[in-house]
Amino acid sequence: MSAPKGRLQGKNAIITGAAGGIGLETTILFAREGANILLADISEPALAKALAKVKEVVPTAGRLETIRCDVSKEADVQAMVESQDSWGGVDVIFNNAGIMHADDADAVDTPEKIWDLTQSINVKGVWFGCKHAVLSMRRNKKKTGSVINTASFVALMGAATPQLAYTASKGAVLAMTRELAIVHAREGFRFNSLCPGPLNTPLLQDWLGDDHAKRFRREVHFPSGRFGEAIEQAHAVVFLASDESSFVNGTDFVVDGGLSKAYVTAE
Ligand code: NAD
Repeated sequence: MSAPKGRLQGKNAIITGAAGGIGLETTILFAREGANILLADISEPALAKALAKVKEVVPTAGRLETIRCDVSKEADVQAMVESQDSWGGVDVIFNNAGIMHADDADAVDTPEKIWDLTQSINVKGVWFGCKHAVLSMRRNKKKTGSVINTASFVALMGAATPQLAYTASKGAVLAMTRELAIVHAREGFRFNSLCPGPLNTPLLQDWLGDDHAKRFRREVHFPSGRFGEAIEQAHAVVFLASDESSFVNGTDFVVDGGLSKAYVTAE
């Protein structure tokens, strides 16, 4: 009897921010499901560690390669996507790389250079990924394709602890993804946003540190009483990448433990 096929068997996938929390967990699940994966990140040392980890935990993984890419630079993104032409072209891209800068604040205190940096990576980076994925899918005559863009629950509800550049950037990801979903639907290319809730990953945890008051201010709003785990996002991304979600297009796919539906108080 032949081995059961994975849910992403033979699909060529690109994951940006693959060396970090959600990106790395997603890479591991994609590898388990039979995808060929190009891991992209701005940090080469982190990429090397991530690749070693994926190979260790999924010894049966298909093709795995890494590429250094700053998603805010179009030439980097173009080179990343075009490098998959020799694999047969992109089937899935997870535009996941993003930052939340420590100096991001409210309308008065956010420095303009932090605003610009955040939009460059979180918005322009996603646009470049979408643009070059579409060009690759067309060039390689794909009949279907799946693009997943990481937004955030704050794009739906805003944050009471201001991080204005970040919130605006994630709102832009939602709006852009919805439009792309409709524009490319007849080509068979699907676009969905992932809206994670607050997670146990370095992006948020390093920023919160051991400041108990800062933590409590957030934790009181969690219906399930805890941060989410990166792997819980990765499971959603596998679904959106796979053909199981073939009629799911243009959604704001929320994985937040119910946070954005809650009205929770301390007492
Ligand atoms: P993380 O910081 O653990 O990982 C992000 C990865 O992106 C890192 O490996 C980093 O090196 C890489 N990166 C940063 N700038 C880059 C650039 N210019 N080009 C390429 N790679 C770059 O973060 P995470 O928590 O896994 O977040 C992933 C995505 O999820 C981000 O878009 C983030 O905004 C979003 N998100 C996170 C949370 C959370 O609570 N952690 C909540 C909602 C949304």
